[in-house]
Amino acid sequence: MNKDWLDKDFYAALGVSKSASADEIKKAYRKLARELHPDKNPGDKAAEDRFKSVSEAYDVLSDEAKRKEYDEARTLFAGGGGFRPGGGGFGSGGGGFGGGGASYDFSDVFSGEDGGLGDILGNIFNRGRGGRTAQRARRGADLDSEISLGFDEALSGVTVPLRLSSESACTSCHGTGAKAGTVPRLCPTCEGSGQTSRNAGGFAFAEPCPNCHGRGLIVDDPCPSCRGSGRGMSTRTVQARIPAGVKDGARIRLKGKGAPGENGGPNGDLYVTVHVQSHPVFGRKGDNLTVTVPVTFTEAALGAQIKVPVPGGSTVTLKIPEGTANGRTFRVRGRGVTRKDGTKGDLLATVDVLVPTAMSDDARTALQAYADSVGEIDPRAQLLAAAREA
Ligand SMILES: [Zn+2]
Ligand SMILES: [Zn+2]
Repeated sequence: MNKDWLDKDFYAALGVSKSASADEIKKAYRKLARELHPDKNPGDKAAEDRFKSVSEAYDVLSDEAKRKEYDEARTLFAGGGGFRPGGGGFGSGGGGFGGGGASYDFSDVFSGEDGGLGDILGNIFNRGRGGRTAQRARRGADLDSEISLGFDEALSGVTVPLRLSSESACTSCHGTGAKAGTVPRLCPTCEGSGQTSRNAGGFAFAEPCPNCHGRGLIVDDPCPSCRGSGRGMSTRTVQARIPAGVKDGARIRLKGKGAPGENGGPNGDLYVTVHVQSHPVFGRKGDNLTVTVPVTFTEAALGAQIKVPVPGGSTVTLKIPEGTANGRTFRVRGRGVTRKDGTKGDLLATVDVLVPTAMSDDARTALQAYADSVGEIDPRAQLLAAAREA
């Protein structure tokens, strides 16, 4: 007898009951071997390990004499609490698969007459996650996210890393819910269908199997990471490229950055709602930026060259003509928001004429001299006349 046997539950490895017939064992093995075969799971160490366990289990259980010996050994030492004979584990003989002296007939497995056994397991796993019809290519779900951008970032465009969490298969057990090195077994009550039928008044009703709660599988050794649920959260970081000139409240579609597709289906899209922070100086009107520029009474009256701020920290010089009225808006071309076609809107600079408040005696005298020189003009004459005639 192989001492190593005592540590291993070959029935659980194949997902069959202890009373399974030779035929059931063969079928279960084919199913699993097909799914776990290294050719189908290149580089997947967990699948490779499971493939080895399954193969080892089949090597013993498919041989009537070995199976009997195994059963007796397990019965004798069952519950022995810590009986751990030494000796090399499976595969210690080296040489890849079959290291334990087992032999496998791949042609038997892969040319098998029962075509869709791998698919059946796939179906079972998928059913456990929400009752879908499996194996059809499914497009991944669209996801929503939000970001807040600074005013300047929104103007220039920016690439923002977004951390997205979504429910996915547990990475420790690959969604099976079973502890590493073990596989769930088919539920003996419903034989993996997840449903049982109940007869009532001559009609048969299908209902979720009470033994496996509709999953079709029984996990004897739950995965410690997901406590047997098979589900986990995966977090990924997506680089979201936000185009220049994005508006507050805009919803940007990032194609293919949503949830991953299943069974070869395309990824979903990611929708990012953008919040743009306001700026202490600049405002926004469509593709144009706005700014209010204070000018003195004399600058407005005599004309001047004034410095106007533009986004990004620099300034432009704006020439305001003699006699500029308060509230007049000047257009600085090409200093606004970048449009989709790459052209730019304008900066609209509105002057705010400051009236002198605290004046020196000299200034007051000079201003009085100015008033005397322009004479008696009533700026409200027209207003009062129009109000009377109305
Ligand atoms: Zn898990
Ligand atoms: Zn069941």
